[in-house]
Amino acid sequence: MERLTRQRIAIATVIEAARRPLSPQEICDAAQAHVAGLGVATVYRTLKAMIAEGAVRGVELPGEPPRYEPTGLGHHHHFRCDGCARVFDFDACPGGLDALAPKGFVSERHEFVLYGKCPECAARKRGVGTRARR
Ligand SMILES: [Zn+2]
Ligand SMILES: [Zn+2]
Repeated sequence: MERLTRQRIAIATVIEAARRPLSPQEICDAAQAHVAGLGVATVYRTLKAMIAEGAVRGVELPGEPPRYEPTGLGHHHHFRCDGCARVFDFDACPGGLDALAPKGFVSERHEFVLYGKCPECAARKRGVGTRARR
């Protein structure tokens, strides 16, 4: 198989399997298990093509570079771990948020992010698990 195709398949597989939005570096690290020597520049290039095709979308948290997830996931929200900086999906939604819009405004969608500790980081002793990881 052509190297370009193998790279593309590896990147798509990593994004699909993650079940959470990944940074380009996380995608690169995981895809290297499939394609040795894969570089982050290739990941960026491939992501750009996949976004243009509508297969992948960016997830933007305030003040952070975008992470990427497959399009076509159902309605869901994100949890960012302050311990390891990973972002996770969750399906729960309070609903009824449209009703919070000021009088006369028509709310059509919403976004929110929960911040805290993932189970791994929460299990670590306080003050020990604060290393940053992308
Ligand atoms: Zn964590
Ligand atoms: Zn929601």
